[in-house]
Amino acid sequence: MIIGCHVSFGSEQLLGSAKEAVSYGANTFMFYTGAPQNTIRKPIDCDLLAQAKNYLLENQIDIKNVICHAPYIINLANKKDASKWDFSIQFLSQELARCDTLGISYLVVHPGSAVGLTKEEALQNIVDALNLILEKNYTCKILLETMAGKGTECASTLEEMAFLVKHTKKEVGVCLDTCHLHDSGVDLKEFDTYLEQFDQEIGLEHIGCIHINDSKNILASHKDRHANIGYGTIGFETLLKIIYHEKLKGIPKILETPYIGETWEDKNKVYPPYRFEIAMIRERKFDDNLLEHIKAYYNK
Ligand code: ZN
Ligand code: FE
Ligand code: FE
Repeated sequence: MIIGCHVSFGSEQLLGSAKEAVSYGANTFMFYTGAPQNTIRKPIDCDLLAQAKNYLLENQIDIKNVICHAPYIINLANKKDASKWDFSIQFLSQELARCDTLGISYLVVHPGSAVGLTKEEALQNIVDALNLILEKNYTCKILLETMAGKGTECASTLEEMAFLVKHTKKEVGVCLDTCHLHDSGVDLKEFDTYLEQFDQEIGLEHIGCIHINDSKNILASHKDRHANIGYGTIGFETLLKIIYHEKLKGIPKILETPYIGETWEDKNKVYPPYRFEIAMIRERKFDDNLLEHIKAYYNK
């Protein structure tokens, strides 16, 4: 079971991310190379990187399972503002180069939003952008994430994802997100049916990562609001079946669930749920008092 969660990439860079993941009992993790909502990036510190690699070895974390996530503000789908499209291409290229420096194998990317274009135009723009980016050979592979279909998001259906994977000249993979799939209209109670369709249209070998999130909204709501494991509309048992699915063995599973606490407004009173969610998953036992257990742990 390769299970981890979203962690920060702070002043200690990959070393800090790895330490945070280990503190949750994770054996992998996902990070953004800076704030997810902006594109300001610090150069990679070689010294910290060497320390991080040692730390990963000591803690039996295989760097092949560690995932990087591109900032979500870049948009490959819309070419109307050419300078923004160019910037997105340039930034993603830099991000792939950064991943190669770090030794990271997978970069998760939100394909983009059509905003004012037709889906066909938007999908073609994404393919064109990916083809330009991948003209250069990076070791790190792009994983396109399945989206909830909020607003004009692309790749919220199997057909759209298949179009992107098939028309991109070089190999791109896919990152499944359980909350996004559910919100896009995939009934995860019938997950085997979805996997069969995915295998036919795209091929299961393309799946490189799975984001494990419950959802705050109903099926096909097109919302994209993550809930804690077992505390949403997907439910613990359905998520467990996906996590332990025979055909998805060895694929890194990453939690992107919200911090929980007494109030959402008081930033000092929210705590990461990951240590407890990972334990629930490992023990296959739902904790119906997550908040109290988290509060007791972090206030001790
Ligand atoms: Zn994402
Ligand atoms: Fe995700
Ligand atoms: Fe999301």
